[in-house]
Amino acid sequence: MMAKKRLMMLGPPGAGKGTQAKLLSERLSIPHVSTGDMLREARREATPMGVEAGRYMDAGQLVPDEVVIGIVRDCLGGEKGANGFILDGFPRTRAQAEALSAMGLELDAVLNIRVSDEEVVRRLGGRVSCPVCGAVYHEIFNPPTVANTCDACGHVGLVKRDDDQEATILKRLEGYWKQTDPLVEFYRSKGVLVDIDGARSTGEVEASVVDAVS
Ligand code: AMP
Repeated sequence: MMAKKRLMMLGPPGAGKGTQAKLLSERLSIPHVSTGDMLREARREATPMGVEAGRYMDAGQLVPDEVVIGIVRDCLGGEKGANGFILDGFPRTRAQAEALSAMGLELDAVLNIRVSDEEVVRRLGGRVSCPVCGAVYHEIFNPPTVANTCDACGHVGLVKRDDDQEATILKRLEGYWKQTDPLVEFYRSKGVLVDIDGARSTGEVEASVVDAVS
């Protein structure tokens, strides 16, 4: 019986938060809430917020707190978050964590997926994804069966994220250590943090994640 339903994936870029959040979201039938995905969508639709956010994203910087807090409030505020959710990539700052609490959404478990900086650079350097269904691959470590073709939906033409360029990856890592890593101790002190070794296969990490929320 899975008891914990208000969940969050914490960890540096490339830790596997998105992959694990998707798997868990299917397993528990609760929504996967990724602020990165929502910002990329706003960007594709060229809304004023999306265009503004895109400037920060390309520079490897965090989008201002009030913007992402607004997005999460629209998505989970009021009764919408009542039946559970998996947050992926939010909160990323102390102010965001406090805003989440202020919405009445205390987390049951924070899954802290740990990988080294070297591993992050190695992984993100070759990361490509399907623009149609979102499936993620790695050019060397996890290529699709047929080159440039999505295993999941058959779409031809995998794409590299704009912010997965080496210089931007390093900026994002720096931001992670400065702004987001302090949340590890913040949630540990609340007694909800679970450390998970992310430098293993997707299946092994998934088993630990399932264990942590059971
Ligand atoms: P992600 O897909 O989670 O790696 O997010 C991609 C980019 O979107 C980040 O590098 C940030 O520029 C922006 N972003 C996503 N979530 C947040 C957040 N919670 N706070 C600030 N910026 C965010």
